[in-house]
Amino acid sequence: ARLVARPHVVLLASPGAGHLTPLAELARRLVELHGFAATVVTFTNFSAPDQLACLPASVATAALPAVQIDDLPADAGNGGVLVELARRSLPNIRALVRSISTSSTAPLAALVPDFFCSSALPIAAELGVPGYLFFPSNLTFVAFMRHIVERNEGAAPGEYRDLVVPVELPGGVSLCGADLPEHQLYGQLVEWGRSYCLADGVLVNTFYEMEPAAVEAFRQLAVPEQGSGAFFFPPVFPVGPSVRRPDRHEPTAGALSPCLEWLDLQPAGSVVYLSFGSGGQLSVEQTAELAAGLEGSGQRFLWVVRMPSTDARRCGAAYDDPLAWLPEGFLARMNGRGLAVASWAPQVRVLAHPATAAFVSHCGWNSTLESVGCGVPMLAWPMYAEQRTNALILEEKLGVALRMPSSLADDRRLVTRHEIVKAVKELVEGGEKVRRRAEDLREAAARAWSPEGPSRRALEEVAVKWKAALEADF
Ligand code: UDP
Repeated sequence: ARLVARPHVVLLASPGAGHLTPLAELARRLVELHGFAATVVTFTNFSAPDQLACLPASVATAALPAVQIDDLPADAGNGGVLVELARRSLPNIRALVRSISTSSTAPLAALVPDFFCSSALPIAAELGVPGYLFFPSNLTFVAFMRHIVERNEGAAPGEYRDLVVPVELPGGVSLCGADLPEHQLYGQLVEWGRSYCLADGVLVNTFYEMEPAAVEAFRQLAVPEQGSGAFFFPPVFPVGPSVRRPDRHEPTAGALSPCLEWLDLQPAGSVVYLSFGSGGQLSVEQTAELAAGLEGSGQRFLWVVRMPSTDARRCGAAYDDPLAWLPEGFLARMNGRGLAVASWAPQVRVLAHPATAAFVSHCGWNSTLESVGCGVPMLAWPMYAEQRTNALILEEKLGVALRMPSSLADDRRLVTRHEIVKAVKELVEGGEKVRRRAEDLREAAARAWSPEGPSRRALEEVAVKWKAALEADF
């Protein structure tokens, strides 16, 4: 029999569970549903071995050598560091992609960097293959990025035109100042958005029912030829939700997670799960206030406690354990009603557990999709980056979340214990409507990837384009 070579897709994942996990799931689908071979490329700087260990078996991995980034300014920001890491790794990325494209018996079909690795898009052009950006967040935020790029078209280098607030996005989403990322990120976001314009398409981790107006609005937009002089932004393909499945082994930071055993002992629909992603940090004072709020609420809870922000570091190594920052005697007083774990929980399995009733979340988009995928309503407590926009979608547009009061106005102020008690009770004891909406969305998320589902069809459309481009080369 003739050996049929599988065309090869190379995907670049910037560091962080929130970037690697959805990209790996996308890679798995390309392999298992569309007959591609796929390699997920990761960075050795900030690598997390447990995360790599639970990648799908059908997907190959390759790690880029570490590069020097110690010299970056302290205020570069998480995204700024990741963008610079990708930029400094370009020679290594080029060498790796070239070696894959020449040594493997399979032709290179496409290069798919995630949004922090967009500087690699020219490599796709050099090699004459499609370059598609993977956007692990939502389409509304892609619309915002498109908006700021268009607004700054032709602006002098380094000068940015102020936003007109509220920002009116196509599809009727209106973002006021409090729904937008921090103002100091604006220039950086414009530059990142400009770099997206080198992509042939953007694969977005969302699905129709999550953002119907945004999907429809993008459908109406004509995409001109690149270089035609008209404003160009690549076409978008909603291919989500791309999330880890609960049956897959998840990282538990070395130790076996006590969370699931504890959840097994709790009544169905009784536990509030609290987690603020891989980067969300509360202040020392807010950590204590949250503990007091949970205590006062009388609810069962599972809380992933992270090290408090900067003020904690001043106190030195004795306090390296996040749980040491909980108020004196707190857990003993809970007497089994609440469990606090340090830093990390197997989140998808926690959300899928029948005991879990609600999720107090920083609204990272992966957490959001995971919660929706399990039909769990949320209490939105956004912290940074695009999380405030996500909270708006969840509360106002979808009705699957209530918002913590602080996130409505000044998100730097302390959320009091009374506000926490009130919000948690409102969600768990009331919250009938949000629970119903969460259940509707759970079904919609499953439909998106059913055989005729819209996300499945969108990825199919992309796969067909990539294969056609290969055939055109012969
Ligand atoms: N996560 C987890 N356990 C934790 C915290 C986070 O498994 O204790 C996973 C979570 O399931 C999600 C990812 O880490 O897939 C976080 O991504 P998200 O976009 O929600 O937030 P980010 O960390 O990027 O702010």
